Amino acid sequence: MEAALKKLQQLFENNRRWVEKVTQEDPEFFKRLSRQQKPEILWIGCSDSRVPANQIVGLPPGEVFVHRNVGNLVVHSDLNCLAVLQFSVEVLKVKHIIVCGHYRCGAIAGALSQARLGMIENWIGHIADVREKYSAYIDSEPDSVERENRLSELNVVEQVINVCSTSVVKDAWERGAPLAVHGWIYDVADGLLRDLNCCVTSRSEVQALQPVPR
Ligand SMILES: [Zn+2]
Repeated sequence: MEAALKKLQQLFENNRRWVEKVTQEDPEFFKRLSRQQKPEILWIGCSDSRVPANQIVGLPPGEVFVHRNVGNLVVHSDLNCLAVLQFSVEVLKVKHIIVCGHYRCGAIAGALSQARLGMIENWIGHIADVREKYSAYIDSEPDSVERENRLSELNVVEQVINVCSTSVVKDAWERGAPLAVHGWIYDVADGLLRDLNCCVTSRSEVQALQPVPR
């Protein structure tokens, strides 16, 4: 039992099979990737195991720079997220930043419930703030699953706004870099992505963003 815990043998076997398959289809694949990465996309998504960035958009290694945390949050004091943003925008020069939330998100359900959840309450408190901001809209929804869905969507739009108000993104737009910030949502129940149509490509568009009537 202990040996199995330490080794995870199956994963190494999976890895070797994957390398064989990729190399068969494209013998230069790993050689090419080892030279540099040139992704055009930064993905900011939830840590949820059902929402793996590359897989759901069908892109191979090298195409997506990824940052994931519980609830796909962009918090202005989160050095980890800011470092990812700065590196991807200023060094990798990504053209797209995708904030992707998902339905049936535990963080969203947690923020909507009054339950005590321990330390993580301090993190998903950022989602509770979104819920507070749009409480009239969310509370007007009688169905509890729909209430969660609306909060999942609004949380994405709010994180798009947060991305746009970082110094990194403002500076990029100021120097004329082509950079679009997208808000998407993924449904773990059908595997489909939906565009929330809140794409922003300049500072003036951020101000015009009005997710729902308040
Ligand atoms: Zn989630």
